[in-house]
Amino acid sequence: MTEMIDPFGRAVTYLRVSVTDRCDFRCVYCMAEDMTFLPKAEVLSLEELDRLCSAFVRKGVRKLRLTGGEPLVRRNIMSLIRNLGRHLKTGELDELTLTSNGSQLARFADELVEAGVRRINVSLDTLDAERFAAITRWGKLDQVMGGIQAAKSAGLAIKINTVALKNFNEDEIDRLIEFCGENGYDMTLIETMPLGEIDQDRTDQYLALSDLRERLEKTWTLTDIPYKTGGPARYTQVEETGQKLGFITPLTHNFCEGCNRVRLTCTGTLYMCLGQDDAADLRAPLRASEADELLEAAIDEAIGRKPKGHDFVIERRGADPALGRHMSVTGG
Ligand code: SAM
Ligand code: SF4
Repeated sequence: MTEMIDPFGRAVTYLRVSVTDRCDFRCVYCMAEDMTFLPKAEVLSLEELDRLCSAFVRKGVRKLRLTGGEPLVRRNIMSLIRNLGRHLKTGELDELTLTSNGSQLARFADELVEAGVRRINVSLDTLDAERFAAITRWGKLDQVMGGIQAAKSAGLAIKINTVALKNFNEDEIDRLIEFCGENGYDMTLIETMPLGEIDQDRTDQYLALSDLRERLEKTWTLTDIPYKTGGPARYTQVEETGQKLGFITPLTHNFCEGCNRVRLTCTGTLYMCLGQDDAADLRAPLRASEADELLEAAIDEAIGRKPKGHDFVIERRGADPALGRHMSVTGG
């Protein structure tokens, strides 16, 4: 194994892969309702995605997360997941996981476990069916709750991701913490990030997690813990429930110093930082030859220009996104 070390001495050990830009939901903070998706010809085949991921594993990636769009709506996605599972068996990979909206979990939970997946993140912003329909535009709460239940029954550890939205679910966070406590799920609260054109002004949605945490501490005893999942979340333990509660605050805190990750899109574009536009095209070297030398050289070159950090500032930008691309491109 050759380690990938960036110019700031950080080892890149975590790859997030957006396997599709498509989704069966249209969450208001993530997508516009009439999104234009990529033509299929531009999207890497499942075999190409496997080749790319495997090159990263050879170069030192220990954790792979599949995301999207919605990863489980990509046709035949289980074949990719099963194939990638081989790296778990050889011990080259520590973890294969995914972030999902939960809509297809009832169908896939058992197969995911068979493929070696042990943990999954499911996005859930509300427990109220009407609100759920409003925030996802096309989603059905029942279906997602059924999916989460199926994942739990299959033995998957579950973490619920909740985007904290002003005037939308602020009043429900306590209930969500309770729900996670009752079911043995960890939870992460996410601040909205200014990515991509959507149909509304983002300053209306922005809720500072520092304020929210202060409010939550009136009800819950939150103890800071050093727990790390290789992600940017800072974790606390909710003493009353025994579950973990993480806070991802990209806008109010700089979490870049310990960054160990890069992000790959379904067209083979590698983003070295979620908050910067600089990217490397890996599809051309991938398709240029059946051997992987060109690809590996392109990866090395890209890691060599991983930037130190990002500078999202939502207040000053108002409605304009800091970056033109949507979260569904890089998968969060
Ligand atoms: N479809 C899957 C899902 O919803 O979990 C995976 C992809 S989704 C882009 C990954 C995560 O990004 C979700 O938890 C979602 O809530 C979050 N997300 C999307 N747009 C966001 C934004 N503008 N700010 C913060 N989080 C966002
Ligand atoms: Fe789809 Fe996930 Fe974006 Fe919602 S957050 S629209 S479920 S990709």
